[in-house]
Amino acid sequence: MNQYPVELHAHTHHSDGDFSVTELVESALDFGYKGLILTDHNTYSGYEEIVDKLLDQKLIILRGIEWTTYFGHMLVHDPKKFVDWRTATIESIDYHINQVKEAEGLVGIAHPFAIGNPICTGCHWEFQVRDWSKVDYIEIWNRTAPHKQFWSEKAYELWTSKLKSGIEISCSAGRDWHRPDAKGLLPGITYVQVPEKLEQSTMKAALKKGSMYITLAPRLEWTLTSQNINYSFGDKVPAGTYTISVSCLEPNLPLLKELDIEPKRIRVIQNEMIIEDIKLSKTSASFRFDKTLVRGYVRVEISGRYQNQEDVRLTIGNPVYLK
Ligand SMILES: [Zn+2]
Ligand SMILES: [Zn+2]
Repeated sequence: MNQYPVELHAHTHHSDGDFSVTELVESALDFGYKGLILTDHNTYSGYEEIVDKLLDQKLIILRGIEWTTYFGHMLVHDPKKFVDWRTATIESIDYHINQVKEAEGLVGIAHPFAIGNPICTGCHWEFQVRDWSKVDYIEIWNRTAPHKQFWSEKAYELWTSKLKSGIEISCSAGRDWHRPDAKGLLPGITYVQVPEKLEQSTMKAALKKGSMYITLAPRLEWTLTSQNINYSFGDKVPAGTYTISVSCLEPNLPLLKELDIEPKRIRVIQNEMIIEDIKLSKTSASFRFDKTLVRGYVRVEISGRYQNQEDVRLTIGNPVYLK
């Protein structure tokens, strides 16, 4: 399995971003992203420019949009046909989400707890979703320094409450990139895990399955092994005994390598209960142990110091689901 950093939420001057499409693509390559989804507000027009001009770039790019409404912002990634958001009401969002799914699009709830009116009308999620199983991810980290934003914690609670209620749903990070960020301000990164090369199809499949994790810096590898078969993020497996391998690895993006961080613990969490709490004594380490896992889900987090702040969630892995 290979892991690739991707950005799922980015704007250009086709909506309210300062980047031209070319500048966004160049900035993404400079940062070290291998994949990008263009998500301008209520328009796909930027992607047409990419198709025309930028196909030879070393960046896998998917078409996307940020539905921008009075009742919330929703990332719609790679739908195969146009789905109209303009008639979506608080009560009718399930119908619209279903239409996106029928169009083979992926659905992500953007910054659900951002401040709404009068600071940013529509930025706070007010749609009444009844069927959360159709939502692919909740963007629990938005913009830069997400560990310092109060809404990240609320979004994390929303995500874990859905997991606990039995829904299979991923967390994602979105830079919500509009312009070059101030020096020293870094976003959370989404890493997708794919069997071989990153391509449009493998990137989309990983996002759909939840084969991904989010991080402020350390990389995370983990597998559950039973009878010589390995499972990882987003897989569905029977409850039972597994050999768990988990590694905290050094960051591999240039700006993240320079960060003053210290991973201190790896926690394995089953149904929101910590079932293994490993103390780290160095920034890169691997562990292996057996666990009997019950029905529900199991996931991994790395926490530690981020600059002068302690007990920060540095890395959050999406679950393996146990049937
Ligand atoms: Zn938004
Ligand atoms: Zn946005």
